[in-house]
Amino acid sequence: MNISVRLALCFLLGLSACQGQEQGNQEKAKKPGVAEIHNTSEEEKMSDVKEAPINFPTLRNEDFLMGRFDPASHEDFVAVPRRFADRGGMYVYKACGVALTAMCEKAKSEGIDLVVRSAARNFDYQRSIWEAKWSGDRILSSGINASKDIPDHTERCKEIMKYSAMPGTSRHHWGTDVDFNAFNNEYFEKGEGLKVFTWLEANAASFGFARPYIAKGTERPNGYEEEKWHWSYLPVSTELTKYALELLEDANLAGFSGATKAEQLKVKEHYILGIANSCKQWH
Ligand SMILES: [Zn+2]
Repeated sequence: MNISVRLALCFLLGLSACQGQEQGNQEKAKKPGVAEIHNTSEEEKMSDVKEAPINFPTLRNEDFLMGRFDPASHEDFVAVPRRFADRGGMYVYKACGVALTAMCEKAKSEGIDLVVRSAARNFDYQRSIWEAKWSGDRILSSGINASKDIPDHTERCKEIMKYSAMPGTSRHHWGTDVDFNAFNNEYFEKGEGLKVFTWLEANAASFGFARPYIAKGTERPNGYEEEKWHWSYLPVSTELTKYALELLEDANLAGFSGATKAEQLKVKEHYILGIANSCKQWH
């Protein structure tokens, strides 16, 4: 068994312990979900993070779920290693960071360059994206100026929500979801992008990652359009999805243009839950 696979297994076993702790295992509760990277030189360089506790009770919190914090100063977040990112200053939840780093290292060893283009985005960051699209300062990927071309606010929300979440409802708030390499599906359908996508489809699951925004269809009739670049770290994000369904309400969304349309658009039901079945349950 090679080192990367062994690391992944070690990591996943650690997470199982964490899930057990959720069910009241007192022994494991002392040190929940710690994934340790063994102290050999080769493994050591695989990650900048040595331990990744998953503190589920602190995540079952409306402010956290809605991204009302600064990932840069959150003690449970860690920077995405610069060598796997297109810029500095991107953060993820620590457990996700351990798995992400291991996955990127494994990919690199097999000639695949995974480049994180976006990671944790808090409410304010998401609002800046939303407002830029709402106002027409940022043209939508479809070429539409949302402000000029779509006067009806419900329709404008729907058009923006083909690819962008309302602030407070993005999985990127959680530090569990990352975007790789390019923000367009075509990139992943030929050449280098296809190699990257094929590798992820074959290997990401063993590191705990899956794609929430698969092609629309019977399994996923609602929500954002397909995003081949967006991957989610399931050992944490499946729980956060459940918390979001428990704690968030469309009617409570506020603080950005079009927020009053959230109830009508059934954001929680159609968008937060508009994900692949594989992302609803972690074994
Ligand atoms: Zn994304």
